Amino acid sequence: REKKLKYVYDFTEGNKDLKDLLGGKGANLAEMTNLGLPVPPGFTISTEACKVYLESGREPAALRDEVSAHLDALEQRMGRTLGQQDDPLLVSVRSGAKFSMPGMMDTVLNIGLSDASVAGLAAQSGGDERFAWDSYRRLVQMFGNTVLGVDGDLFEEALEAAKRAKGADSDLGLDAADLRKLVGEYKAIVAEQAGRDFPQEPREQMDLAIRAVFDSWNTERAKLYRRQERIPGDLGTAVNICSMVFGNLGPDSGTGVAFTRDPASGHQGVYGDYLQNAQGEDVVAGIRNTVPLAELETIDKASYDQLMKIMETLETHYKDLCDIEFTIERGHLWMLQTRVGKRTAAAAFRIATQLVDQGLIDEAEALQRVNGAQLGQLMFPRFEDSVDDAAGYQRIGWGIAASPGAAVGKAVFDSYTAVKWSRSGERVILIRRETNPDDLNGMIAAEGILTSRGGKTSHAAVVARGMGKTCVCGAEELEVDTKRRRLTAPGGVVIEEGDLISIDGSTGKVYVGEVPVVPSPVVEYFEGRMHAGADEADELVQAVHRIMAYADRVRRLRVRANADNAEDAARARRFGAQGIGLCRTEHMFLGERRELVERLVLADTDTERDDALNALLPLQKADFVELFEAMDGLPVTVRLLDPPLHEFLPDITELSVRVALAESRKDANENDLRLLQAVHKLHEQNPMLGLRGVRLGLVIPGLFAMQVRAIAEAAAQRRAAKGDPRAEIMIPLVGTVQELEIVRDEADTVIAEVEAATGTTLKLAIGTMIELPRAALTAGQIAEAAEFFSFGTNDLTQTVWGFSRDDVEASFFTAYLEKGIFGVSPFETIDVDGVGALVRSAAEAGRAVRPDLKLGICGEHGGDPESVHFFHRVGLDYVSCSPFRIPVARLEAGRAAA
Ligand code: PEP
Ligand code: MG
Repeated sequence: REKKLKYVYDFTEGNKDLKDLLGGKGANLAEMTNLGLPVPPGFTISTEACKVYLESGREPAALRDEVSAHLDALEQRMGRTLGQQDDPLLVSVRSGAKFSMPGMMDTVLNIGLSDASVAGLAAQSGGDERFAWDSYRRLVQMFGNTVLGVDGDLFEEALEAAKRAKGADSDLGLDAADLRKLVGEYKAIVAEQAGRDFPQEPREQMDLAIRAVFDSWNTERAKLYRRQERIPGDLGTAVNICSMVFGNLGPDSGTGVAFTRDPASGHQGVYGDYLQNAQGEDVVAGIRNTVPLAELETIDKASYDQLMKIMETLETHYKDLCDIEFTIERGHLWMLQTRVGKRTAAAAFRIATQLVDQGLIDEAEALQRVNGAQLGQLMFPRFEDSVDDAAGYQRIGWGIAASPGAAVGKAVFDSYTAVKWSRSGERVILIRRETNPDDLNGMIAAEGILTSRGGKTSHAAVVARGMGKTCVCGAEELEVDTKRRRLTAPGGVVIEEGDLISIDGSTGKVYVGEVPVVPSPVVEYFEGRMHAGADEADELVQAVHRIMAYADRVRRLRVRANADNAEDAARARRFGAQGIGLCRTEHMFLGERRELVERLVLADTDTERDDALNALLPLQKADFVELFEAMDGLPVTVRLLDPPLHEFLPDITELSVRVALAESRKDANENDLRLLQAVHKLHEQNPMLGLRGVRLGLVIPGLFAMQVRAIAEAAAQRRAAKGDPRAEIMIPLVGTVQELEIVRDEADTVIAEVEAATGTTLKLAIGTMIELPRAALTAGQIAEAAEFFSFGTNDLTQTVWGFSRDDVEASFFTAYLEKGIFGVSPFETIDVDGVGALVRSAAEAGRAVRPDLKLGICGEHGGDPESVHFFHRVGLDYVSCSPFRIPVARLEAGRAAA
């Protein structure tokens, strides 16, 4: 039996915090209604109803009656009934999920119009026949396309034909008779394509539209968008039934979108687009060109003033940038939607600090208004400022700076090609007249998006900003010919498919060819190279500086770097690293030292081996001296050699060929023969599960001892030079405490020898990586012999899932992502339920045995925003990540703690 649930809520019953239940649009319509703002009356069908429908394929039994009751109340209130012949009530049926999915789901306007009521609508509007027929043709078109699944192009073609026949260059050139004829054609298209007549019964229209909205949750493009944005697939959408107001009732009507601040810069001011005598989606779709919102002041001052006041109310109420959709019906302003608006990364930082200055939010809240992904975006390079002056860079267009960044790539004119080319490793710029939701795949694949039509609120702009992708839109001087795959710029410059093009989403400029890029001002700031000034970049840097200070003040997690040379260490330090969490010593065995490793591997006698190790020792020691100096006063965790030895030897096939050729010439050299033998001996089917990590240390006598000696001697040398080295020795790939104990004893002996020889007390901590399931499961035992744990979540993910970390991304992960088995690779974001559970229990078990056990993580997850929050929750002491991700980790650690 179905639970007795309430599925329908009047706008007066909800509020902004009910997004789970009413979707974002419904919750905010309710909030505005309760704020006393002019919202057309209506009601919302909850996401719960949608979930029942998606699970069972049927609307909940109680829904029909509940909708009837709310419709009755609405009709009472409006004094007319849905589709009433002489004076019809019309409604819109609009989707609205918890998270905004721009353009992904369905909306139908003008529900209630029919052959019978179209005249009534004309009468209602004071005899405006044209308006009535225009509204009706929009209904048949939208309903036919979204509810009955008729190809939208068929309607567009019929409309174009009607305009051509009339010699009109826009739909405004069609009169009532033309539109009436068009409605007839549209209905014929519906009958032919959908195999049924356009429904004349208003309630049937409404019920079918509601169901279509439910169904639109699971369209391919909606699913793709959710995966991209990591929106869960089971939330469902709410459906908003709202009494219609009309922006297409003549020049004193119109529709628009507005922002309470500039979503690109964060500056306060009048931002938005307005379109006179138009309805609904015309603005967003970029059908006709809009005028800047500021011009509304001259078109309709009263409505403009009222809108400005409402925007102020909304910003103070939501304490954030809001975006708004509104309609003016014959001089009467109506609010159709508001929500906390999407913004660029730079604007997010600026707005957060501006709102703190205005006293609207505190610092903790400011941290929640930005995120690490945005900070990461701000660290991308951009085009040189001087590009315009420099010879050789030809600017061919100047559109709207819709989503910042510098993007260079080959021109492509359709999504299919964008995807295909990017799969084969090409960087592409997707060029369209305007985009629609079907372009999503191509937008994801492209480096950047360029359109010739549409404003800051066009589909391309909104979606690109959401994805953090560079976008220039509305570059009107560019003529985009998608059929012939070319773009023509003023002066006859032609860009063909495959030609290189550069777009600057921060300025809106478009260039032929490849324009060089410069580092971002935010990176310059982290590098300590940013000088004070009052320009645009500096304002952003100030905001970043303040937010980073908030984050550093509240975070509990420390942030270290994965670095294995002095240069990276120094950069990491400038970026705020509090030490090195992982120095991979294998990087010190490459290059010209490879030959020494060969000698080590080939050694037949103890003397030969010791010679090789003795030759490596001073080199290793010199590496560590530099590193400890760069990180003076901060901990440096040095990991002993980890990868299988054969990685340092020649490739087996190449060497075999070389030896075979030499043998055929009878001049095979002794060394090559021995080398080949060694390579064969060391060759493994599964090297990742083979002779590596601690196993190497146990099998190759003296190897780890040499490394420990190098660390200890380097530390002693730094101490003698009055430095403050804080080395920690880390043993990789331990699966059982016995392994650790053996290596530890050996290390202790070496350290004692160095201490005695140099007369210093070194206090070198010895710890282990936890990167095998067995290590995690026996963490309590291992903690007996370890002063610290560092979770190696790369190997731990590999071994917990049984996924080869080197192969899966290229083989079956795409299929897994497409099937929604996971929304993001577990090598990127920690798998909380599996790998994460092991991290949590190992941390607890380790601390139970050794309360002062230091806990860190040095896998790739250490710089991943979501994972950082998890590591904060399980109580680790630090995360360690690559130098460039340190600011992101600092910020996210702050956000996790705030
Ligand atoms: C790990 O496994 O997570 C780790 C940090 O070690 P590596 O990536 O070097 O195997
Ligand atoms: Mg590892």
